[in-house]
Amino acid sequence: MGNLKLLSKILRLKQFKITDFWFKNRDTELHLAVKPYKNGSCCPACGRRGKIIHHSKEFRRWEDLTVMGIKVLLWYAPKEIHCPTHGRVQETIPWATTYSRITYRLEWRLCSLCQIMTQKAAAEILKMPTSTLSNLLHRIITRVRDGHKIRGLVTLGVDEISFLKGHKYATLVYDLDRSRILWVGQGKGRATIDRFFNECLSKGQKARILWASCDMSRAYTEAIKHHCPNTTLVIDRFHVVKALNQALDEVRKDEWRGLDKEGRSAIKGLRWLLSMNARNRSKGNTRFLNSLRNSNRRIHRAWVLKDEFEHIWNYRYRASAEKFLKRWMTAALRSRIPSLRQFVTTLRNHFDNIVAFTDRNLTNAVGEGLNRIVKIIKNRASGYRNLDNFADMIFLTLGDMDIPAHIPSELRTL
Ligand SMILES: [Zn+2]
Repeated sequence: MGNLKLLSKILRLKQFKITDFWFKNRDTELHLAVKPYKNGSCCPACGRRGKIIHHSKEFRRWEDLTVMGIKVLLWYAPKEIHCPTHGRVQETIPWATTYSRITYRLEWRLCSLCQIMTQKAAAEILKMPTSTLSNLLHRIITRVRDGHKIRGLVTLGVDEISFLKGHKYATLVYDLDRSRILWVGQGKGRATIDRFFNECLSKGQKARILWASCDMSRAYTEAIKHHCPNTTLVIDRFHVVKALNQALDEVRKDEWRGLDKEGRSAIKGLRWLLSMNARNRSKGNTRFLNSLRNSNRRIHRAWVLKDEFEHIWNYRYRASAEKFLKRWMTAALRSRIPSLRQFVTTLRNHFDNIVAFTDRNLTNAVGEGLNRIVKIIKNRASGYRNLDNFADMIFLTLGDMDIPAHIPSELRTL
């Protein structure tokens, strides 16, 4: 067996032919002169064969997978051909996409690694600077997303997330039926969400959205009502509970300020206990909270109200949920606790969209599940400097896109 044949077997370069090889950089780089195996030059746009009109002498270089610590590089001078439809074009290269500097195999490896680890860790394995890897990944994601259109969107979710230690925000748009992320935009608020509706969806698509879920910020609720005329908006249950817990914490902080040292130690550790769901509480916890009835009436009152509020999610009929909520709001107002009264005002503003959960319980599993994964991606890298990198990682793991479709199956083996 000749050297070239052995090399192509070891490197599994079945689809193309090695014509020469040489080592460089103290044997750490293996350079291969290659050419497409079957000598028909095709148009990259339509795949038809074209007449060769120019044999270029300009060699281009592609980086392939590293084998045994040796970097493999491919060299070839692409020909120019004449396509009956597209005119003068550069021929298709079977091992890489048109403008890429790396092979499909490396692209595939890069995407697979980044799905399970940080860009930094993947860069270490692939022996390239992290910035290079980020750029390469960004090119792949951009390429795959360019050809993609949103389809069959019926249930929309909108949420915001902070990246870079809570200073910068991004708005995420979900397809809640498919549990995929459709869009990531810099910033939060009306201008950002408007950009999604204007740039990504047609008028017909907006009309076909029947359900939407978001938090209680005016920006999102009003944008959804404005753009999607046929949508039933359901406020994300998670955000309602979060707002209530915040109100409860205000009460605790308020009390804390007015107490002496002894009183403070009596309500120590209460912060987490108050926000805890009744189902997760131990008997001891409940006993402790009940004991507050005598020592700290205000906190006790607020807590009882909060515990009662949780019952709303058990209602199945809109009318009974409305009745319950109204009764609860009256009781909360009567408590004369400012933060709870404020919470009641919020409830009143979104009343219809909150009790809409009885029509369809959109929240829990899907949206929160996606959110949790996004947070894992964020925490894994302990924050991102810019949105591009963060968005790439989100699309890679949860995006509504099909990377395998963009990489020939025979080159996805490694
Ligand atoms: Zn063509």
